Amino acid sequence: MKRVLTEDTVSRVGETVKIAGFVSSVRMHGKILFIDLRDYSGIMQTVVISACKHYAEAKKIRPEWVIEVTGKINERPEKMKNESIKTGGVELEAEEVVVLSEAKTIPFSVDTDGHEINEETRMKYRYVDLRRKRLNQNLKLRHKLLLECRKFLDKEGFVEVETPILTKSTPEGARDFLVPSRLHFGRFYALPQSPQQYKQLLMVAGIEKYFQIARCFRDEDLRADRQAEFTQIDIELSFVEKEDVLLFVEKMVTALVETLFPEKKITKKPFPKISYKEAMEKWKTDRPDLRDNPEDSDELAFAFVVDFPMFEKNEKKEWVAVHHPFTKPDTEDLKKITESPEEIKGLQYDLVLNGNEIAGGSIRSHVPEVIESVFQVLGYRKEEVREKFGHLLEAFKYGVPPHGGIAFGFERFLMVLTGEKNIREVIAFPKTGDGRELTMGTPSADIEKSQLDELGIKYKKNPNPKKGGL
Ligand code: ASP
Repeated sequence: MKRVLTEDTVSRVGETVKIAGFVSSVRMHGKILFIDLRDYSGIMQTVVISACKHYAEAKKIRPEWVIEVTGKINERPEKMKNESIKTGGVELEAEEVVVLSEAKTIPFSVDTDGHEINEETRMKYRYVDLRRKRLNQNLKLRHKLLLECRKFLDKEGFVEVETPILTKSTPEGARDFLVPSRLHFGRFYALPQSPQQYKQLLMVAGIEKYFQIARCFRDEDLRADRQAEFTQIDIELSFVEKEDVLLFVEKMVTALVETLFPEKKITKKPFPKISYKEAMEKWKTDRPDLRDNPEDSDELAFAFVVDFPMFEKNEKKEWVAVHHPFTKPDTEDLKKITESPEEIKGLQYDLVLNGNEIAGGSIRSHVPEVIESVFQVLGYRKEEVREKFGHLLEAFKYGVPPHGGIAFGFERFLMVLTGEKNIREVIAFPKTGDGRELTMGTPSADIEKSQLDELGIKYKKNPNPKKGGL
């Protein structure tokens, strides 16, 4: 007999069906055994009476065992109906009960929302943790949101293009993860902090409307809204100006919310546009929370923050790009760029939602001399620019449409939409605050010496043994 999902039993009263899943709970009422069985679609009550041929074995069943039950779907007596679950009007009277897999006592309950459990333990047994309804739903919503993004962008004529993961350093302001090359001794790949340069090269390639559900890697200290690896909805368009991108983003975000979160209310449309200066003066932050009523969990206050300075000074008093060096300055006067960087604004924009920066992008410089002067302000020598970014400057000599784009921090967006406080809650196997993934145990030290030899790697003594490592 083919297995059916518990949610489908509702329309099959009187039929004999087979269901399968995890045991959520087991209770005895007199001689009757009740087993609640949980599957992908929901939960369902099964009843094993003493006349059932598997009654004795069934009594041994414990929570989280994986079982298969065959039997007849009965309508529950009126006063036994449970309105709070989909299958609350029916139950399955077991004829056969088969144990598919026994389970050790699980390390924590999966019936609660899980916030009360120590995070290390949750992450170590993440495969158990993910059984809880809240996380299960978050993963399903994650899938739906990605799917709707893809559908929307496809309908708008975008092409999804995958770009390399083993790539070259691109300056997004964080440290790179490096991968040593075996075939090219002494050389390294960098994992992409974002597909920024490749997506610009795709504009040179005439793709015009690019997107990618892109994995990005940044070796920086983690926070509640930051992970070492994360997902972007990365977008780039040719022949656009700032207003075109903003209008497009508003259309996309509105469509996604209307499709997947129809109960949520967008505070203001068109999305307000606030200059960086106004945001800092009025709210003391460049990601203001503009909800009318921040207590209301169904409110979504989107706003664009625009007119950022192109450059700012870091703690070492050096100029760095506020967004990234490929952003177009508001002037093409090279002298002005190099002589008064503090006066230059970048054609950059952020999308904020309820006080979180959920997307950022810019119109790009497509004139090589402008890019060179930006790098000059950032303290790069001419040869260094050629060495590091020569490919982009060279590409732009073969004809480049004006272009611009944006990237959504996908998990941050989803975190706000689901009302979670930490992006770990919307990631299947996230890293802990100190960058470890505890289920597999990464990063690991069990690399064979022969493999290190091939790569020409030898450890120095760990200067900070307290921080972990060898
Ligand atoms: N690559 C940028 C980032 O990751 C986004 C963009 O400018 O499109 O922030």
